[in-house]
Amino acid sequence: MAPSIEIENKGLIPQHDLPTPEPDSPFRPRQPYRFGTLCATVENPDQKDQYGSSSVPIYQSATFKGISGEYDYSRSGNPTRSHLEHHIAKISSATNAFAVSSGMAALDIILRLLKPGDEVIAGDDIYGGTNRLLTYLKTHGGVTVHHVDTTDPKNLHAYIKAGKTAMVLLESPTNPLLKIADLATIAADVKTRAPDALVVVDNTMMSPYLQRPLEYGADIVYDSATKYLSGHHDLMAGVITCNREDLAKQMAFVINSVGNALSPFDCFLLLRGVKTLAIRMDRQQETAMVVATMLDRLGFDVHYPGLANHPGREVHERNADGYGAVLSFTTGDKALSERILGAARLWGISVSFGCVNSLISMPCIMSHASIDPAIRAERGLPEDVIRLCVGIEDPADLIDDLEHALLEAGAITVSAGADQHHFVRATIAREGVSISRAVEKLAFNENTAPRENREWFVSAPGKVILFGEHAVVHGVTAIAASVDLRCYGLTSPRHDGKVALRFSDLGDFYHEWVLDDLPWDAVTSIGVGDQHPELLDQKLIEAIQKRALPSLLDSNASAKAAAVTFLYLYMIMAQKAERPSFSFTVRSTLPVGAGLGSSASFSTCVVTALLLLHRRLTLPAIPEPTREANDADPGHIHVSHEGRRAVPMEIAEEVNRWAFVAEKILHGNPSGVDNSVAVFGGALAYTRPGFGRKPGMEPINGFKSLRFLLTDSRVPRDTKRLVAGVAAKKLAEPEVVGHLLEAIQSISDEARRALGDPELSRKALLEALGALISENHAHLVSLGVSHPVLETIREKTAAEPYRLSTKLTGAGGGGCSVTLIPDADVNEEVLSDLINLLAESNFRPYLTSVGGSGLGILSAYSPNNHEGPITPPETPNGLPDDQFLAARESLRSAFEEKGVEELPGWANERGRWLYV
Ligand code: PLP
Repeated sequence: MAPSIEIENKGLIPQHDLPTPEPDSPFRPRQPYRFGTLCATVENPDQKDQYGSSSVPIYQSATFKGISGEYDYSRSGNPTRSHLEHHIAKISSATNAFAVSSGMAALDIILRLLKPGDEVIAGDDIYGGTNRLLTYLKTHGGVTVHHVDTTDPKNLHAYIKAGKTAMVLLESPTNPLLKIADLATIAADVKTRAPDALVVVDNTMMSPYLQRPLEYGADIVYDSATKYLSGHHDLMAGVITCNREDLAKQMAFVINSVGNALSPFDCFLLLRGVKTLAIRMDRQQETAMVVATMLDRLGFDVHYPGLANHPGREVHERNADGYGAVLSFTTGDKALSERILGAARLWGISVSFGCVNSLISMPCIMSHASIDPAIRAERGLPEDVIRLCVGIEDPADLIDDLEHALLEAGAITVSAGADQHHFVRATIAREGVSISRAVEKLAFNENTAPRENREWFVSAPGKVILFGEHAVVHGVTAIAASVDLRCYGLTSPRHDGKVALRFSDLGDFYHEWVLDDLPWDAVTSIGVGDQHPELLDQKLIEAIQKRALPSLLDSNASAKAAAVTFLYLYMIMAQKAERPSFSFTVRSTLPVGAGLGSSASFSTCVVTALLLLHRRLTLPAIPEPTREANDADPGHIHVSHEGRRAVPMEIAEEVNRWAFVAEKILHGNPSGVDNSVAVFGGALAYTRPGFGRKPGMEPINGFKSLRFLLTDSRVPRDTKRLVAGVAAKKLAEPEVVGHLLEAIQSISDEARRALGDPELSRKALLEALGALISENHAHLVSLGVSHPVLETIREKTAAEPYRLSTKLTGAGGGGCSVTLIPDADVNEEVLSDLINLLAESNFRPYLTSVGGSGLGILSAYSPNNHEGPITPPETPNGLPDDQFLAARESLRSAFEEKGVEELPGWANERGRWLYV
């Protein structure tokens, strides 16, 4: 029978044990093996290896043959994982153990035991990732979370409510302040006051070697096995242990359902790591005590439960069999702490702990940076705290390196007298000592990267639908192309913790926000490189609408939607509480709301600016000085679609993904066509899925830029009503509409072929397009979506001497028309006559080219100097603050005050633009 251990108030707890060799002798009774032996001896009597292998083999197999075997599919069970889980259960005083893909995955599985309305009590000095996941549950899962100082069990009493409290989540010692919670007392209190509540302990800081909370009444214990259990920082894993069959069943169900059990190879690595847990930990905590004592003697405020002055020492000694190998100390000065990190050599600057190598970190800018600075302050986490995670190196070398770093940073000085410790704590930190090395060492951490002091200038085109509007809703291919009317955005740095927005062409809207006043409690930020989930975070949108929008926006719906979009993206992209402060002005040469994709070009500008300022994008190094003149725009340095793309494709794709998110905020259900055109430029063919044709978006390669006259009829349209009208017609007259749709599909196919055909002469192309335009318009008339004003424009442009082909574009019922201008065949004087004629009729004509560049970013290089970087576009780097502000203002006010017509030319003169 497996032996049990007796725990006060808990009775007998089953313990997985490894039987010592038989027989028991009456003279020398059988003793259970000690921890170090259990750790090193991986043996499961129920799972003997057929060949007697000394090391558990890796069953690198997803499936297992047969129908009645123990294993069938590795998501549900795998022999290597079973060995590991048995071993973990054995060393954790548990009946059940699960090995999963990370510590956070372990917590996620446990938190899935909660349901909306439940309350959780958690510590106030918990791991940043735990805080982030709890915050997510709070904002998305309807769970209430109370953060409480768990050093005194009484602090929890007010929050433990029978029927409400579902979980109490503890860490002891906490990380990084090494606060101690009385696990047994808290567990007993919870069981008395809210018997159904689960006591969960994150045991990562201790590992089962030093602390086994199940023995103190915890219901579930988990560890980030990435730390001490594996010991080498060569894998990510989490383990969960418990002694309750009901909980084990529920968690096994979740693991099998979501598929985050640990892979066989990682199980093997972890099993190997666990074998040396005891010996590593012994060495590590012994050295930790030496380091803590040395820092304490020097007069630093040291947090380590092994020190006699630690307030939780006595409780910790009841909880655990050792003090662990993590300690922290404060220096009184954040900059000084940064310098110490920078000066350390043997101590590697890294997040995480539990590795055989020693690590040094500043939690506030690294592991705990995801916690809002205000909340960090509220919970008493000092900004200057340094965490040391002690490894197995020679203690003398570690002490030597630390002393050296403290000295170099100016935290200690050599004692003037013959002090026996040689060093004393410096009263005044020596500013500037080895700061450059500190910065260099910390360069990997974006939080400490120098603040952005440059302007960024971005632009993106609008779009026209050349063929297939309306029909596209019913599965016909539409052809959309970029139009050389653009949105422009300029960001200018500021240093006052505010962000300002100006939409000069949307009622000249202007507003400033204090960044810290934004509703940060509602945001779940998205990691760099991670993608936005398919669904928008409605809670964040609501929080912005209710708490961040000024009432002056109530009468300006477009500016309101644009401001929500900007703030949503700003907040969700912000990382580790880094909040760039800047002014952002957007200008548009595109008419807003005329069906020309102004929102997509706005979205693209906003997203590009935010990705740059949040340092989620890095532009390539200096571009080659190849300049291609662009006939339409001699000021542009145009990189054609056939040529080299100056903005790399990965960047364009990242921008496009985010621009689609922005479009969702603005439109609810965008097709993705407008943002793709705004980012990639050129032309593309789009077919909706679900109609039997190959769905998706395909660029039309080889598309040559075309001239069009775009005419805004200035008659507002109601897209929804027009789309519904066509749907109703299709229901009423399926055959007629069916034929029309087929005819439009042939037009799109024909146009796509012609536009991408390199062999076709320009003249033949223009003739073919002219005919297709007239045909497509006739079908749109038959679908009932034209409007008398559009017919007037068509008649005027078709009349002598112009004889041009015109069609409505977009939803129709007003809005815009497009008229093809066949290059040389059109006399410029005649053309300007036509433009005047249209303008006299109160229309708004724009002569523009279609199919040009997509997203543009003003490069960080001067147009005249391809060698040396200058910052874009004119940032006066290195000037005193007042001059800096003045120069910055002059650029921005020039941008804001330019007439719309002058804007493109002015923007082109600012510098060398990189285009997609
Ligand atoms: N719990 C604590 C105390 C941790 O320090 C960490 C990671 O740093 C985790 C949980 C999360 O573990 P993982 O990184 O393996 O997902």
